[in-house]
Amino acid sequence: MPLATTKTSRRSLVLLLLLLLGSGFLATSLVSYYAALDSIRASIVNTELPLTSDNVYSEIQKDLVRPVLIASMMARDTFVRDWVMAGEQDVEQMTRYLREVQSQYGTVTSFFVSEKTRAYYQAKGVLKQVQENTPRDAWYFRVRDMAAPYEINVDVDMANRDRLTVFINYQVFDYQQRFIGATGVGLTVDAVVQLIDAYQQRYERSVYFVDASGRIALTGASGGPQGARSGQALREIPGLKELLAQQQQLQDGNYSYEEQDRGHFLNVRFIPELNWYLFVDKQETGAVADIRRSLYLNLLICLLVTAAVLGLVSIVLRRHQTRIAALATTDALTELPNRRGFELLANQAILEARRNQGPLCALLLDLDHFKQLNDTHGHLAGDEVLRGFSAQLQDDLRQSDIICRWGGEEFIVLLKDSTPERARQLAEKIRLHTEQNRFSHAGSELQVTTSIGLAELHAGDALDQLIGRADRALYRAKQSGRNRLCEDHT
Ligand code: GH3
Ligand code: MG
Ligand code: MG
Repeated sequence: MPLATTKTSRRSLVLLLLLLLGSGFLATSLVSYYAALDSIRASIVNTELPLTSDNVYSEIQKDLVRPVLIASMMARDTFVRDWVMAGEQDVEQMTRYLREVQSQYGTVTSFFVSEKTRAYYQAKGVLKQVQENTPRDAWYFRVRDMAAPYEINVDVDMANRDRLTVFINYQVFDYQQRFIGATGVGLTVDAVVQLIDAYQQRYERSVYFVDASGRIALTGASGGPQGARSGQALREIPGLKELLAQQQQLQDGNYSYEEQDRGHFLNVRFIPELNWYLFVDKQETGAVADIRRSLYLNLLICLLVTAAVLGLVSIVLRRHQTRIAALATTDALTELPNRRGFELLANQAILEARRNQGPLCALLLDLDHFKQLNDTHGHLAGDEVLRGFSAQLQDDLRQSDIICRWGGEEFIVLLKDSTPERARQLAEKIRLHTEQNRFSHAGSELQVTTSIGLAELHAGDALDQLIGRADRALYRAKQSGRNRLCEDHT
């Protein structure tokens, strides 16, 4: 096969391997990546988020729902109701009661507002009278008129202007279900925010509350989704906006949405005690970063393995092809170039001779009566003589001369830069050496002679013509008695 063709076929084999290995590795890496992604998503949506929501809910029950229960207990307390119905005689009795609640349950504030006197009782005494047209007191009249028994209200605490407080405002009724005032407790928002921050850190997801009207009610210190603050409507927040547009109203359940190409998983749960929705939001990137990293690692390993395999295959192929090419152009018995090898070298030599306008001579050699030698001494003896003869030829000639086993017991020699005169001398030397040479085989000494045909390259000669003329000369050598040299003079 010509060299260029073997190179091309090697390249296409390596390319095919690259394609097979590459696509195989890529497919397995991607399949396992997407399988891992699916299972991680499924575990986030079906297990992790609901579990967080459960945990947060149980913490809320402990930490935030407890004040609701305390306020509810205060609203039903017979002392409170009896004291109001008895005409709010001893203020100290009420303030002691409120103090007790505050210290016993660890709330920031506790209060009672009387419908009859409009007095605002606090642990420290009467704070003020609530008034219908004062914005600060609007909450009381709202609580008085609302249908539900209580509300949760985030408001500024009068006693401490800077501090946002979560108030639980409970309606109080007498035994005939007549409204007699409002009572409850307050927690600073700081405490609730710390609570949310603690949840967020513990569970590595964003936790916030949304009220029934779809506004963010409470977030951690760093804000809610995409830094949204309390009071902001969900409909104004990218990602959630699109989700709400699909769902109309978010109800309990699991959702996923996209925000700036980042996937989010969301669990929504209604907390009846607060009349708020608890939102637990987990960004996908954090969760899948690990498996994405392992995908990249996988791909890198695949790339290295592919490169190593291809490199090895390429080296082995090249060696193999070189060996095959050598085998295809070399004669196994004498290790001389065979006819195919000779043609490559000879054509090259003819080109050079033409370019340099130098002389070039060919010798065609044929061992005499070789069949007879085979018949007498055996084929192995014949082989031994052929080997010995080729070694002798190499000894008699220069390194630069081209020697080839033309076939059977015929050899051809191309003498570069040799005039017919010098070729004649060399041929004669070979003929004489052959005659004198003894080839030993199995203890016997074998003798052989050779007939030689000599031809010189003429301008415009192709290899075939040169050999043809050498062949004619050889024929004449055989005809005229063998063991001699004949020249072609045509
Ligand atoms: P001539 O002097 O006319 O050349 O007679 P010859 O016997 O040499 O010629 P012929 O062409 O009749 O016989 C050549 C013989 O060489 C026949 C063949 O068996 C033998 N031969 C060819 N190749 C090999 C080989 O590789 N090993 C051996 N041992 N013999 C071979
Ligand atoms: Mg022959
Ligand atoms: Mg012969």
